[in-house]
Amino acid sequence: MARLTFDVMSKKDGEMKSICVNCGSSPGFDACYMSMARQLGQALANGNYELIYGGADVGLMGEVANTVLKAGGVVRGIIPESFAHKVSHQGLTELRVVGSMHERKMMMFDLSDAFVALPGGFGTIEEFTEILTWSQLGLHTKPCGLINVDGYFDPFFSFLDNAVSRGFMKPEHRKMLLVSNEPDGLINQMASYKAPVVEKWVGVKTRT
Ligand code: AMP
Repeated sequence: MARLTFDVMSKKDGEMKSICVNCGSSPGFDACYMSMARQLGQALANGNYELIYGGADVGLMGEVANTVLKAGGVVRGIIPESFAHKVSHQGLTELRVVGSMHERKMMMFDLSDAFVALPGGFGTIEEFTEILTWSQLGLHTKPCGLINVDGYFDPFFSFLDNAVSRGFMKPEHRKMLLVSNEPDGLINQMASYKAPVVEKWVGVKTRT
């Protein structure tokens, strides 16, 4: 059973040094997605944030990593051995090959102080919402935010609003998800983020 571990001893409370990016392993059909991947990579390098990501050299993932590297930044990739031979990036500061997807996500969580998602598919949504879910349960207080390129996440926001209005999510938890149209705005929001202290369940009496 994986355990959440916390490496905050060497940091001031809330200090962000490393940012995890979850994003498509595909480039998307419109050039705006790859362009935003480059903008995000440049913003991370400008702010001296380490990039933690899935370790692949394809799609938006590869583009963010290559931009940070080109700008002289630090990039750590974590990839399962089952597909490392197919898509792992060979030029990273550090590539960690792990045994499973679960191990990968745990390690990405441990190494990161904040989480950003760009457009993507199942993998992106799964990884990013897992971290939000842990936050909702009070297991961590790290900020999570999306860059809403060209309205890509609008249907996802509608889904979340629907969950709130139908009693499956608290408004306070809905607000944990930070949103911006560009990287610097999101990084600023994340730097001043304070996690809510609210019980997860809606309309449920829990034992103390
Ligand atoms: P997707 O949005 O389905 O393309 O999945 C992207 C996310 O899932 C990334 O953040 C990765 O961590 C993981 N992932 C999915 N496909 C790959 C791949 N080919 N190489 C590395 N990681 C991947």
